[in-house]
Amino acid sequence: MNGSRNRLSLQKLSGLRFSEFGFDDRLTDGILASGYETATPVQEQVIPLILEGKDVIASAQTGTGKTAAFLLPLINRMLTSAHDPNAINAMIIVPTRELAVQIEQHLEGLSYFTSISSIAIYGGGDGNAFIQEKKAVSMGADIVVCTPGKMMAHIKMGYVKLSGLKYLVLDEADRMLDMGFYDDIMFIINHLPPKRQNLLFSATMPVKIRELARRILSNPAEVNISISKPPEKIKQLAYHVYEPQKMPLVVQLLSDASFSRIVVFCSSKLSVKQLTRELRRKKLKVDEIHGDLEQDKREEVLIHFKSGRLPILVATDILSRGIDIDNIDLVINYDVPHDGEDYVHRIGRTARAEADGTAFTLISPKDQRKWTQIERLIERTVAQGKVPDDFGETPQYQPRQLHNNNRQEHKRKFYGKPKSGGQGHNRNNRSGSASGKK
Ligand code: AMP
Repeated sequence: MNGSRNRLSLQKLSGLRFSEFGFDDRLTDGILASGYETATPVQEQVIPLILEGKDVIASAQTGTGKTAAFLLPLINRMLTSAHDPNAINAMIIVPTRELAVQIEQHLEGLSYFTSISSIAIYGGGDGNAFIQEKKAVSMGADIVVCTPGKMMAHIKMGYVKLSGLKYLVLDEADRMLDMGFYDDIMFIINHLPPKRQNLLFSATMPVKIRELARRILSNPAEVNISISKPPEKIKQLAYHVYEPQKMPLVVQLLSDASFSRIVVFCSSKLSVKQLTRELRRKKLKVDEIHGDLEQDKREEVLIHFKSGRLPILVATDILSRGIDIDNIDLVINYDVPHDGEDYVHRIGRTARAEADGTAFTLISPKDQRKWTQIERLIERTVAQGKVPDDFGETPQYQPRQLHNNNRQEHKRKFYGKPKSGGQGHNRNNRSGSASGKK
């Protein structure tokens, strides 16, 4: 494997903007519409390799942005190189139906302005779902996201068009092996054209995954994005509030005299500026740090903060990585971070060395889904903080419900009302022009 060479050459990249990958304009529109600005570390490393046509084995957990790391270059390759519109071009095999639905929805968002078609295929559907799936796999959806057992069942019936397949993705491969899917996966792979690009993603890399990789991948590049979990000693609390309640709650939390060095993280420069202004209005001693500031100014703010003269710093993720400031005793996430890794980095600013630390995260309803992904990544349910009674009603947080809603939405979209004019399995009508979809 030539992984170490790739890692070294790619280490220099940091905070890459998506515009720097040179994606097709239609894909760039989808990225912008999804609200992504800069690539996550796994995206930075994996996207160039896939664009080059390499096989890749990557260790990356959910919450790192790994799905877009393979979807974006795959969509781009389909848009910019010859692809057979009457064949399945890419197959993404995943362990569960929930993940299949989630990835297919993600794909729909990113490919919204393209004419790429896709379908999620998973067990447990009714007869209507089966007919839709059969139609898609025999006429050729561009990208199929499937669970192993259900795809194997379709292949056994003999109508699945696999001869044009160029890309294979195994996602959460360790989970698939744990669930006993090895034989099903090998059955499917034995029916695919041998010349294809293979991508394998796994949260962990036990020997059996290495063995699978050796059988399936050809001279793969290796990417390792391992995220350490937040130290146990950090006290984490989640506050579920409505957006307008966030500001008064932060003021309340900041007024707790037991914290003397505090960083408040926001997800955008604009949000940092607005929050700093508001806190100053409340007479709090606060300054801001973000990418719009000159280097000199940033350094000055940091010196004040480090020396203890400035107790509260409002920052973007510019401060979440690599900057070593001792004795931060409270981190407040005013916005839920974009990905789990940022969360771990942000709250890792506190509880350094021997110190204990506290991390509060404010979560409005629109960020609840992101929060469930972070909780999955750190493998714990974060205790909820008590919002003062005089704040009135606060939102419910039901992570299970969020997953179920996802599935219901998907079912309604695909099987609720048959589509006219298309192939019935996707709003993406292959024969329509890209602009026809806007
Ligand atoms: P994943 O690890 O693929 O499950 O992604 C975790 C979450 O991060 C999903 O909600 C994605 O929509 C989101 N995400 C992925 N890439 C980016 C990015 N570059 N910027 C912001 N959010 C992202």
